[in-house]
Amino acid sequence: MNDIKVAVLGSEGVGKSALIVRFLTRRFIGEYASSSECIYRKRMSIDGRQLNLELYDPCSQPCEGKSTLNEQIHWADGFVVVYDISDRSSFLTAKAIVHLIRELHLGGSKSRDADSVIFLVGNKQDLCHMREVDREEGQKLASEGRCQFYELSAAEHYQEVVLMFSKIVRNASLG
Ligand code: GDP
Repeated sequence: MNDIKVAVLGSEGVGKSALIVRFLTRRFIGEYASSSECIYRKRMSIDGRQLNLELYDPCSQPCEGKSTLNEQIHWADGFVVVYDISDRSSFLTAKAIVHLIRELHLGGSKSRDADSVIFLVGNKQDLCHMREVDREEGQKLASEGRCQFYELSAAEHYQEVVLMFSKIVRNASLG
């Protein structure tokens, strides 16, 4: 059975844990108190194939520690890079992470088609009245970084969250 490793990366507070827990349990969590990184495991069937998914959540560990982030990038087969559309600085962090993934992941032995294994996600779309990052800016970064782009809300878009994770798992499993 294939093991597929997906890292969910981005600034603290953008909703990484909320997205993962929504995908795994259907529930939206208001507050998620975890102080250490964790790996969630889920057995999935994609296109009739059984897969063991490992989802990495850095939790409250900030992503600024470059060596840690490098390790996470080397570990993973696929990436969900998250920012909060109501927080411009989280978008700048996402931009730096996308560029680092392209530099490290594509240069390494796991080299593969970046277009299909890096997903850029603008989360908290329900807060669009507080928007600091235009949808077009997200799309532009996605096309520069050769990522697939989603704007969604862990709070309100359960089906989109499931579709997004299912697609990254499928793509990462094909690499
Ligand atoms: P993480 O540090 O990136 O794992 O972020 P969390 O998952 O802990 O979420 C940080 C805060 O944002 C929590 O209070 C969540 O309830 C909230 N949050 C996460 N996703 C959404 C969303 O789609 N909409 C809104 N309004 N809040 C969200």
